[in-house]
Amino acid sequence: MSINKTIGKEKTVFGKTTNPSNIEPIKLTENSRLRFRCHPGVRCFTACCGNIKIILTPYDILQLTKRLGMTAAEFLHKYTEPTYLEKTDMPGVVIKMRESDNKCSFVTDQGCTVYTDRPTACRYYPVGMADFREGGGRDEHGNELTADEDKFYFLVREDHCKGHEEDKEWTVGEWRADQGVDVRDEMNKKWLRLIMRRKSFGHQATLSEQAKRMFFMASTDLGHFRRFIFESSFLDTYEVDPEVLEKIRTDDVELMHFSFEYLAHTLFGAKSPLLTIRPEKVKEKVTQLQKKRDEAVLEAVQDYEDLKAGRGGEK
Ligand code: SF4
Ligand code: SF4
Repeated sequence: MSINKTIGKEKTVFGKTTNPSNIEPIKLTENSRLRFRCHPGVRCFTACCGNIKIILTPYDILQLTKRLGMTAAEFLHKYTEPTYLEKTDMPGVVIKMRESDNKCSFVTDQGCTVYTDRPTACRYYPVGMADFREGGGRDEHGNELTADEDKFYFLVREDHCKGHEEDKEWTVGEWRADQGVDVRDEMNKKWLRLIMRRKSFGHQATLSEQAKRMFFMASTDLGHFRRFIFESSFLDTYEVDPEVLEKIRTDDVELMHFSFEYLAHTLFGAKSPLLTIRPEKVKEKVTQLQKKRDEAVLEAVQDYEDLKAGRGGEK
């Protein structure tokens, strides 16, 4: 599979853009005011929907598959291509640009055909958010924290975007509420935290191919992840709160939040109140490790004996 096709611009969910010179060097708060409006009457309408890298979060994929009446597998195949997230080795997907005009698969001359379910990154534009606690503090479960006081916003001002010339004035908070960004932030928070945590570890800690595949599966295909929970040996290994288990059978958003807990646990060893390894499995693992260690000791003894015997023969 081809990874990271070069795309000119990036609408980001990570609080950064590929071209920082477009960022106004002023920190904004929820109450800061901005003048901006995007509507079909602007000269540049849909100009920002092409030649761009739009990363999809698990919630974006969930909403888009529902909207389009597709399975995640069909959606991924038809509308996305693989990428790595935030310069880590964590695999994710971006919207595929059409070959004919290098524009987003969902744009027409009339605008975005999935507008009310458009991805998070499209909603952010042109107000980005930076969070200084990325990879920073931790909560009681060892999970990284993001604190409101460490957040600020910034305006992206690109020449081609004429929305800045419009008269409509908002506070950043009003703009974000209008775009539905707050809801998305809540939905994406723990997933973004996983990627930031990976980023802060750098390449000192290796992540197995199996772990990366699990991250990709849980992040992009919740149907597949549900089968993994209910149709594999998962429940023999993990004890899951019965109420949670009942919910995730049918509720996709609950399942998505559960997947973030599971990934934090399995990738980074974070404790979760929702799932614990069954005590007998822990015992089994300890016995396995002891057996391996005993075998390794026996092998080392044997090697030593062989070495001695070999030397003895040379004398
Ligand atoms: S999803 Fe919609 S808003 Fe986002 S780039 Fe595509 S057409 Fe534009
Ligand atoms: S005003 Fe800006 S956001 Fe709206 S279509 Fe034009 S370039 Fe895109």
